[in-house]
Amino acid sequence: MAHKTFYSFEVFPPKPDAPVESVSRCFAQLSALRPDFISVTYGAGGGTAGGKLTCELAQRLKEEYGIRPVAHLPCISYTKEEITEVLADFRAHGITDILALRGDKSPDRPAKNDFRYASELIDFIRTQGEFHILAACYPEVHPEARSAEDDLRHLREKVDKGASRLITQLFFDNMTFYTFRERCDKAGIRVPIEAGIMPVVNVRQIQRMVSLCGASLPRKFTAIMQRFGQDPEAMRDAGIAYAVDQIVDLAANGVDGIHLYTMNDPYVAQRITEAVSGILGRRS
Ligand code: FAD
Repeated sequence: MAHKTFYSFEVFPPKPDAPVESVSRCFAQLSALRPDFISVTYGAGGGTAGGKLTCELAQRLKEEYGIRPVAHLPCISYTKEEITEVLADFRAHGITDILALRGDKSPDRPAKNDFRYASELIDFIRTQGEFHILAACYPEVHPEARSAEDDLRHLREKVDKGASRLITQLFFDNMTFYTFRERCDKAGIRVPIEAGIMPVVNVRQIQRMVSLCGASLPRKFTAIMQRFGQDPEAMRDAGIAYAVDQIVDLAANGVDGIHLYTMNDPYVAQRITEAVSGILGRRS
């Protein structure tokens, strides 16, 4: 009997000038693939407007499509009052799963100093009622961390304070994940760790992603980019195949879960899901 591996998706809200309806079809198609949850990102900045949009989309996932939503919540540019308001809104809309984040530092969004780290947000959320808290982790070490050991110590703090599930930053070399998982185990971090998988289906996307998160690119991956980068159809097929290959290997090595960064692309998510459903033990 196959072991069922957790399987979740990430989506992002439409641009501020686009109607919420612009993502409805995408959400319907992704929901039809029956992931264990769908997480909705939160565009930091602009007061609590980002929270309202994340909240509205998370509520739709739950009520219209019967999918468990997880709302992302970055804290660094918000005051305690603002975070209290967003959490109250989440709770009022039946959203109880929160991915607690620090958020990226940006000169456009000055830090408000109420929260310096995600661990402080986790502490705070626990004072605000019954929430199930998730947190982010970085197999290749967070770019601002003083050292890998320091980063792991702070990850342990997030778990000790109440994060009961972790989602990794994207990575393209599974060995970095296995090494990280071993290090977590040695550090006493025993909550499920979902591997964040980003199907790279065009060259523009990877340039942006790598400059943002600094993921290392294995030779097998760069060969694909060089060979197929200028051929959209070939690049899409190769990107899907690469993600499937990563997932098969992770499942074979007992990963707790796969978190697919869908980039709001249901076609890509569907092809990957069809390819890995049996492997993840998800066929009924
Ligand atoms: P933290 O856990 O606070 O860590 C940030 C840095 O501070 C690390 O280097 C850590 O080692 C260090 N640190 C932590 N605690 C301490 C301490 N006590 N003393 C000294 N140093 C410390 N951003 C958004 O704006 N919106 C989103 O929706 C969003 N979704 C994301 C989803 C995932 C799965 C991931 C991986 C990231 C997401 N991000 C999002 C980006 C995230 O906000 C950034 O990566 C951010 O730079 C770090 O967030 P964190 O919660 O991991 O921070």
